[in-house]
Parts: sequence; C-alpha cells; structure tokens
Amino acid sequence: MAFDYDLFVIGGGSGGVRAARIAASEGGAKVGLAEESRMGGTCVIRGCVPKKLMVFASGYRQTIADAGSYGWDASVGAFDWGRFTGRLHTELDRLEQIYRENLLKAGVEIHDCRATVADPHTVVLADGKTVTAKHILIAVGGHPVFPDDRSRALGISSNDIFHLEERPARLMIIGGGYIACEFAGIFTGLGTEVTQLYRGAQILRGFDEEARGLIAEGMRDHGVDLHLGTTIVEMEERPTGIYVKASNGHECTVDKVLFATGRDPNTKGLGLEEAGVQLGRRGEVIVDAYSQSNIPSIYAVGDVTDRIALTPVAIREGHAFADTVFGGNKRAMDHDLVASAVFTQPEYGSVGMTEEEARETHRIEVYCTSFRPMRTAFIGRPDRVLFKLVVDQESRKVLGCHIVADGAGELIQVAAVAIKMGATKEDFDRTVAVHPTISEELVTMRTPIRTA
Ligand code: NDP
Repeated sequence: MAFDYDLFVIGGGSGGVRAARIAASEGGAKVGLAEESRMGGTCVIRGCVPKKLMVFASGYRQTIADAGSYGWDASVGAFDWGRFTGRLHTELDRLEQIYRENLLKAGVEIHDCRATVADPHTVVLADGKTVTAKHILIAVGGHPVFPDDRSRALGISSNDIFHLEERPARLMIIGGGYIACEFAGIFTGLGTEVTQLYRGAQILRGFDEEARGLIAEGMRDHGVDLHLGTTIVEMEERPTGIYVKASNGHECTVDKVLFATGRDPNTKGLGLEEAGVQLGRRGEVIVDAYSQSNIPSIYAVGDVTDRIALTPVAIREGHAFADTVFGGNKRAMDHDLVASAVFTQPEYGSVGMTEEEARETHRIEVYCTSFRPMRTAFIGRPDRVLFKLVVDQESRKVLGCHIVADGAGELIQVAAVAIKMGATKEDFDRTVAVHPTISEELVTMRTPIRTA
C-alpha cells in the first residue's frame, strides 16, 4: 500500500523535531509534521528557554548588590518587566523560526494545525485533510495540571507566567518540584514577595536529601517564604487580590497563585485509545525501549511517554527512533545516568543515585563537604555550597554526584562524563585540583563522612 508519508510526526517540540529532521535528512524518509501551537514545544516556547532567561534576569539584583560590597559604586534600580518580556518574546520568535527553517531545510512538510490519529496509519488534520503514513510518531508532550476546579479558576500555570502583563508584586507558588522551586527563586530575585506552599516534608522529592535541605535553606535566605507540610484550605478572590489561608494557619493576599503541581501527557482526544494504543494511568503512551507502542506502526517519544521528562532525553529518544526505523541502525536510548539541573537559587546539579537510593542496593561510602565559597564569604553573605559523591564500596565506582552551587548545572555536565565512563573514587582522587575553585572539592575529599 502506498502511503502519503513514510513518517508523520504529531508535535513540533524537541523530540518530534529531532526525529523528523533525522528521518528526512539522514534516513531519506518523506516526513510530515503537525504542530497545533508554536514550533519548538514546551522547552523553547513555555519552558526551559524562557525560564533560563528569567533566571539570568533575576540574578542581576544580587550581582549589583555584591558589586557594591566589592567596592563598586553600584546601585540597583527598578526592574522593567515590559522591557524584559518584550525582548524575551522577540527571542522566542527568533528561535521558533529557526526550528521551522531547520525542518523545511531537511525537507519536512509542516502542517500548522492539530492532528489526531484515526487508525494505525491515518492522521486527520484539523484543516480538513486526512493523510496516511507508514509510521506515526506521537511527540505531543505534556501540560500543567491543577489540583481542582477552584485552583484552575483562580490560579495560573507555568504556561501563563511568561505572558503576565506585569510582574506580580505578591506571588504564591503551590508545589515543591522543579517548576515551583525555580519560579520561587526567579520571582524573589526580581523583587516579588514570594510565598511557597508545599504539602511534603521537604522540597524536591526524589533528589538527594542533604542537597534538598541546603537548597531549602538557601531559598529562605534568598527571601522565599517557604512553608512545608502545608496545603491551601481557603482561597477566594477579593478586591485586594487572591486571599489564601494555608493549613498551618498562615494567611495572605497575593496578586497571583502559581500552581506548579505537576504535568500530564497530552493524549486526551488524540484518538490513540480508539486506534488500539495502550495508555498508562496518567494517559502516557506505553512504549518499549525503542519507543514503539503496542501498535507496531505507532511510536512515541518525550514527555508523552512519562519516562524522564527532560528536553535532552526527548531529543535522544527522537534520534534513536529515527536511526532505528529509517537509518538501519537499531538502537535504544540509554536512560541510565542522565544528569539534570534545577535552576533554583542556589542551583542544583545531580547525576546518578541519591544517597538514599544507593543505600537500598549497595554498600556505600559518602563523601560530602559543605562550605561558604570564597566569592560570597568575602562580602559576608551566608551562602553555602555542597559537593557530594556517593561511592560503591565494592567496585569503587561513583554512583552519584550532587552539587549545590552557582553554576552547578554547568559543573554536573562535566562530572557526568566521568561518571558515565565508570569513574571510580580513585580516578577522582588522582585528578589534580584546579585552584582556587569551588569544584576542586570534588577531587580533594579524602575521608568518607558516612558508610552504609
Ligand atoms: P514535579 O512532579 O517535579 O512537581 C510537582 C509538585 O507538585 C510536587 O512537589 C508535588 O508534590 C506537588 N503536587 C502534585 N499534586 C499536588 C496537589 N494536588 N496539591 C498540592 N501539591 C501537589 O512537576 P513540575 O510541574 O515541577 O515539573 C514537571 C517536570 O518537568 C519535572 O518532573 C521535570 O522532569 C521537568 N522540568 C525540568 C526542569 C529542569 O530540568 N530544570 C525544569 C522544569 C521542569 P509531591 O512531591 O508531594 O508529589
């Protein structure tokens, strides 16, 4: 049977775009791609990229204050939200255009509309066309979820935060994950009064406990009013703003309430179940190591599969899919030892196991140091950094590395190469320190602080 396309990709985010480009340019496939919103997906349009630019913007207040302490005649003026967001959206337009041009250059046909699956080889486009494809790739990502109707009506999500007309003077953030903690730091840095409520005992569940504690402390020092073990009991709109009463008795009135309470896969109404595709409890597409669903012609990559919801992972999954199906090179994405960074203030970079995870399966040694770095100690700031290695007593391999410090995201990328190669603690030890840096501690920790 002749199909209109060898591959039809639904979703123009990180994973879908990479798969489409590789299948077309290296695999010689005829590829169509549909995107209902803007090309670039969550990462470029409403996630990593605008967030990171906001992290940069928010850091300048402290930098200018520090400059004063270092002897510069410098003072912090007002932050112009409109000036910043104007520039931000110009940059996002530019990046979206690059994504679009790269697809076109690779020969991919773009359909700027929603697409749904009609059967294992047929896609219906919202512009009225129906197309057939030998393979369909679902790369539709996810969306923020609100806990209930009241929070949806009165709150905003991370999708809305980049489109606010003005910077809220008072912001409440609900949640203790990546998004909640990153925006708590960003808005505090921009001069907003931030209150964060998290239902659990400590923020950033799933990450290393020692690191979580230090980050929470650092966020409080930075000015975030963080309430743990706390939920909303009352929330209503009043003339002065949104009134919130928390379960610990704390009451406040804020301009906006940001719900950063997790994300779900975008599979609703996509026609997947009707086409026989097996979905998981949260609506994720269930796939094998090659990103293939139970319907052999339908594959899925990225956040919609609810494996590791990170852009570089989606890109690698998309690439491995294209190599496997169109490049004659069957390979699975390696999900082991994926490093990541949380752009909190202080920043956190981690790779491999947490101490808590490693204890479950290995006999370990823990090397950890926490200290006041030279740059900020000099001007009397209380900031602390943390460097931690979790080592397998038997193989001597470093199972996990955790860094809380300025630039931790940059540092962990480099440490991840060594750890992915199987570096042992002794490999770290025989590497000579770079002095004076904070990261030299990674190669100078001599005595374990704990064994388990
Ligand atoms: P997370 O799953 O990380 O965090 C969700 C938070 O909301 C948790 O603290 C959770 O609490 C809390 N929560 C969930 N439901 C409720 C509820 N009903 N009431 C109150 N609190 C609730 O999701 P995010 O939205 O922060 O991020 C989604 C994903 O996006 C991340 O997992 C990550 O993979 C990716 N991401 C990566 C970034 C990076 O690499 N820097 C940045 C941003 C996002 P509990 O812990 O108790 O479940």
